[in-house]
Amino acid sequence: MRQAGLLVWHGLQIAASMARPGVKTIEIDRRIECFFVEHDAEPLFKGHPGRVPFPATICASVNDEVVHGIPGDRILREGDILSVDTGCRFDGWCGDSALTFAIGRVAAETQKLLDVTSRTLQIAIEFIPKCKKWSQVAQKMEDYVRKNDFYVVETLVGHGIGREMHEDPQVPNYVSPELLKHYDFELQRGVVIAVEPMVNIGTKRVRVGKDHWTLSTADKSLSAHFEHTLAITEKGLKVLTAPPENDSEKVDLSAYCN
Ligand code: MG
Ligand code: MG
Repeated sequence: MRQAGLLVWHGLQIAASMARPGVKTIEIDRRIECFFVEHDAEPLFKGHPGRVPFPATICASVNDEVVHGIPGDRILREGDILSVDTGCRFDGWCGDSALTFAIGRVAAETQKLLDVTSRTLQIAIEFIPKCKKWSQVAQKMEDYVRKNDFYVVETLVGHGIGREMHEDPQVPNYVSPELLKHYDFELQRGVVIAVEPMVNIGTKRVRVGKDHWTLSTADKSLSAHFEHTLAITEKGLKVLTAPPENDSEKVDLSAYCN
């Protein structure tokens, strides 16, 4: 799973290098798809079943779009934010990760949203090794977002991940009676989950777009999304979609396509 995670990490580095004013979101999608295919990795999002199959390798969600935005001819502008979510399967195993980028200079409130959402994911990474159950981690995440006067999206949650991108358990970024009663889980060795806080400025409510995929905030306020694939191992928590730690983990870029 680390191999898949490294490829996803590198795909998101391609997105980071391209997330500039004047770029179309479809251009980022094409480069990342090409990168995966040239490294024998299968893009996981393309063809994902829904009312219509998802048509692209990345989800590109701009500004008030929360997640599942379809890349297209939209041109990024100074002050926008762009969330890029992508996943691949390599040698039978999956990786899934997302980052939200500032396009050029952004307003202070926008930067705060990015910082708080990214920090919410870091809080999960810090507390998983210290907690027995997921609900304890979710509580820390929810508390932090609330303290900053933002809203955790509840309609969508993280997930187990392995040979398939979406496996049990559900991994919500908030605590509900249902979580505590029905699907809380132990943070024990062997658990591999994609943790993905989605945070909105003005409301937790979201709406599905006419394309049957794009989820946007109900009040058109901005939304950010950060995600990592995390494994609880005998050597502690591993962030499978984090950057390479040493030379043996370097991805061969000789097939890198432009
Ligand atoms: Mg994802
Ligand atoms: Mg995910």
